[in-house]
Amino acid sequence: MFASLRVRLAAIAGGLCAAGALAAPLAELAVRSNGISSYPAAAELPIGVGLGLAALAGAAVWVLAGHLLRPVAELSQAARRLEAGEAARVTVETKDELGRLAEGFNRMAETLAERERRISRLALRDAQTGLPNRLALERRLDQLQGSGAEGVTAAVVSVDRLARLRSVIGDELVGALVKDLTERIAARAPTAMIGRLSPEGLGVIFQDQGPDVMRRAGAVLEAALAAPLSIGGTTLPVSATIGLAQGPQGGGALRPILARAAIAADQARARRQKLAVFDARAYGDPAANLGLMGEMLRSIERGELVIYHQPKVDMRGGGVAGVEALARWRHPKRGLLSPDMFIPLAEETGHIRPLTDCVLRQAIEHQAAMRLAGHDVDVSVNISGRLLSDADFAEAALKLAAGAEGKLRFEVTETAVIDEPERALRHIERFVAAGVGVSIDDYGAGLSSLAYLKQIRAEELKIDQALVLGLTERGRDALLVRSTIDLGHSLGLKVTAEGVETPEAFAALAGMGCDFAQGFLIERPMPLGDVLRFLEEDRGWTRKRG
Ligand code: C2E
Ligand code: CA
Ligand code: CA
Repeated sequence: MFASLRVRLAAIAGGLCAAGALAAPLAELAVRSNGISSYPAAAELPIGVGLGLAALAGAAVWVLAGHLLRPVAELSQAARRLEAGEAARVTVETKDELGRLAEGFNRMAETLAERERRISRLALRDAQTGLPNRLALERRLDQLQGSGAEGVTAAVVSVDRLARLRSVIGDELVGALVKDLTERIAARAPTAMIGRLSPEGLGVIFQDQGPDVMRRAGAVLEAALAAPLSIGGTTLPVSATIGLAQGPQGGGALRPILARAAIAADQARARRQKLAVFDARAYGDPAANLGLMGEMLRSIERGELVIYHQPKVDMRGGGVAGVEALARWRHPKRGLLSPDMFIPLAEETGHIRPLTDCVLRQAIEHQAAMRLAGHDVDVSVNISGRLLSDADFAEAALKLAAGAEGKLRFEVTETAVIDEPERALRHIERFVAAGVGVSIDDYGAGLSSLAYLKQIRAEELKIDQALVLGLTERGRDALLVRSTIDLGHSLGLKVTAEGVETPEAFAALAGMGCDFAQGFLIERPMPLGDVLRFLEEDRGWTRKRG
């Protein structure tokens, strides 16, 4: 469109130059002879006359050049500005053809500008909900940066397991859910900008002058998420995770804080927390994280991959009912790395297989060491969903398990089984037949499916810590925990509560009839030496509780 405009302007300029030397009527004639005007005059002129006029016109260009070329040059410059996306308006001084051309140009420029405004409005909105989108949030951050604003915090509120939810309730209702969430946040933070950052996540930009901006932003969002989410009056078992990141002190780029807040939400989820502030140290360098994967196989050979154990106690008897083996990487340069740093990557790269073999082997060795010290302890190992349907792995695991001196358990998450149900279920049957117990891990973290629970020959149901952590504060969680315990029992399963951090939670769970408790209140995951000491003092835990 711009190109054709330029051609037209060039043609007009050419025409006007040719007509430059003539008086007004002659100029008009010459202009017409260039075919710009709608008059049929040019075609009617004999060729010789036309050429003569053009020659005359060409010879006298300079006479009226200043008079005619200036507005034409102005038009041409304006066209270039328009093409570059800048505001372009020319002054209309005359009522002649040039004036009308200028007017036409201005009208066209205004139409274009209006269309562009409309397109950018659309480009800044999420098509489904009409909320500002990522681009709009980024622009807002740019504006705040430009005005030197202080106290800017970005938050990401990410609905947990949204893909699963969408497959159950459909995209439209997910949109309604996101809107509901937005309204709640807006009611508590009217000056914050809220946008849809991704299908599952809202981005919120707070700007606040006072101290503790991050803490207050977090509190606002937690309050908005406190009541269960609902669509059209139907309450849904949906939870969300919050990530926060603050703008750099004393100025600097603000755009990156949005991505950091999203990473913080991932970090929170990986640590099974509801909220996390971006931790640059834990995130490390993304390139280095990828590098970690290159190092993983060698690190396993070098013995850098170790396991810690977290005990689980019998809530009635008080004794240690077992331990859960949790992977740790003793990295020579980066220190002790938590599984969130490498398990998800190992799952992606396929390293999860050698990693799990290594964990299982150590778990069996440690169990033997505990037995040697006089403690017969069940040991649980986490098995990723990807491996559960891997026939080679099942074979190797069964071989290793045959050498165990005590009871082994495999912890599997419900999502893992649902992904490849038939094969995974077949392998589970084989584990059970070989005497390996199966525990359903992280129950209640997402949309839990009763139908699938009935299919698995599990012995134990582990209630996700996200539910247990909110037990004593949120009535809803207490209700869910109680009904999960009852459900587990009615299916003949033992129930373990994870994330037991306080005596109050312990007491509440005991009152609900929960069988086992695991959590920081009892002990954090620890290396074998500490576990052996803990087992010696096991009676100490029983005393501590009593
Ligand atoms: P998980 O299986 O749910 O393990 C429990 C996690 O909760 C552990 O985190 C543990 O340290 C933490 N935790 C225990 N008690 C409490 C508490 O009272 N409060 C809170 N806030 N947290 C508590 P960890 O060791 O960082 O492991 C994280 C996850 O990494 C595990 O979650 C598990 O899914 C995965 N993982 C660990 N080791 C392995 C492994 O060998 N293989 C596979 N596939 N996954 C593993
Ligand atoms: Ca587990
Ligand atoms: Ca768990």
